[in-house]
Amino acid sequence: MDKQQTLKASCRTLGLIHTRDSLESILHDAEENNSSYLDFLISVTDGEILYKQEKAKDKRIKEAGFPYPKYLKDFDLKFCRALSAKQFRQLGELTWIDGLYNLILSGPPGVGKTHLAIALGYQACEDGYKVSYTTMRSLIKTLRTEEIDRRARAKLKRICSANLLIVDEVGYLPISSTEGNLFFQLVSDLQEKSSIIITTNKGFEEWTEFLGDAALATAILDRLSFRCDKIQIDGKSYRLENRKSFLDTEDKNDGKKKTV
Ligand code: ADP
Ligand code: MG
Repeated sequence: MDKQQTLKASCRTLGLIHTRDSLESILHDAEENNSSYLDFLISVTDGEILYKQEKAKDKRIKEAGFPYPKYLKDFDLKFCRALSAKQFRQLGELTWIDGLYNLILSGPPGVGKTHLAIALGYQACEDGYKVSYTTMRSLIKTLRTEEIDRRARAKLKRICSANLLIVDEVGYLPISSTEGNLFFQLVSDLQEKSSIIITTNKGFEEWTEFLGDAALATAILDRLSFRCDKIQIDGKSYRLENRKSFLDTEDKNDGKKKTV
């Protein structure tokens, strides 16, 4: 084995995967720049740290279970009048996760509740927080099957160990009192431990209706609202306002193409 191969094998044993994979270019750069021993070692260790941080971030994003990526940079504040630029910045700074604050995003369909929730979740993953995304429907299924399904148990473990839990689409489907109680139990368990983002199409006064139980609705909202900001996003659906289509129509009069 030549020296480079021996070194690569040693890197592998030590878990220095980036150094192993980029050995040729690392050596080339060091020779090119006439690096000192110290600078060389610093560039090797810095490269390895950066690589490991990237890997860990990718793992956090994968394990969060987002349905699709959404980013804060793509969130059009002009369209969302419920948030000032300052509030939006504060949200993106994520110190509220350290303070164990919850966030309730409510409003009609298409106003950006899921976009904002996922984008905050992505940012949280970038910044080193553990995040778990679920729809209410999937969460209820997980809670119901925890005792008999190993995958549900694993998902619940991730949910309970996250710094930020996102529960999307709360209130779209009515739930039974057993399911409501399971949800209450989870919210209680997570209080003082993690932050929760809820997106919902229901106002607080309508929670009784979809939970089918006034006392339960009060108890859940009491726990969620203790340390919480509620953002009511009203207005038109972004989807309807920015509808995209792919068909062209011929304008019979001038022969020019028009979008449908
Ligand atoms: P909701 O969850 O409130 O029903 P979504 O978050 O799913 O709505 O938004 C619907 C679509 O509109 C998504 O593609 C989302 O990216 C886009 N959208 C909504 N609000 C905004 C906004 N303020 N800026 C940019 N895109 C938006
Ligand atoms: Mg949504």
